[in-house]
Amino acid sequence: MQPIGGVLCSLCGERIFNPFAPQTSAVKCGLCRRAAPPFIRAVAYGSYERELRGLIHLLKYEGVLPAKKALGRLLAQAIAALSAEFGPEVVLVPVPLHASKKRQRGFNQAELAAAEAIRLIGGNTLRLESGVLVRRRNTESQIGLTRHQRRENMRGAFAVTRREAVKGREVLLVDDVFTTGTTVSECSKVLLSAGASKVWVATIARTLKAEVQVGNAGASEAVQALKAAV
Ligand SMILES: [Zn+2]
Repeated sequence: MQPIGGVLCSLCGERIFNPFAPQTSAVKCGLCRRAAPPFIRAVAYGSYERELRGLIHLLKYEGVLPAKKALGRLLAQAIAALSAEFGPEVVLVPVPLHASKKRQRGFNQAELAAAEAIRLIGGNTLRLESGVLVRRRNTESQIGLTRHQRRENMRGAFAVTRREAVKGREVLLVDDVFTTGTTVSECSKVLLSAGASKVWVATIARTLKAEVQVGNAGASEAVQALKAAV
């Protein structure tokens, strides 16, 4: 498993392929240039593929709890990329599951990884606050929806239960996977309107454009093969 390399968007962490993109800390992807996300910056340890994807699935879908240790270590590495920007105290909030989902699974993978990461990072900067954010609606499947539909689908899905826990505080939102950013953006908005001063995002994995491009390259090869066969 390898950390994400190359030029990344300074806001959402998406890979930037433009060979002329400046190698500065201020580089932004097209989506973030059009509309800045509500969080300050999102970082992820690795690309959501192969072994890392397998490791996340092991915990999430197969309930192999010891996998949380390795995932917590990777999350801690992602958090380390942000720590220079943190104030003296940061509230760590895992993206919650809907109560019925959590009951069914028996745990929240983001919460388990967050607890492990805190244990490894130590110090007094990070404080885990698991119950601060709740998921009021089950919105797990966003597959096949457009960006706009995903945002609509997510609206009102989260709520802050204890405003005093986040009011005037810096919040680090953590999740297992950053896919389109719709979930963490919605959570960030809710936390900010509850009075959080800043919201950062750290995830174990992130889907990256490369996978789509590799997919397209594969597709064009398939088209070539098909043409040759006809
Ligand atoms: Zn971006």
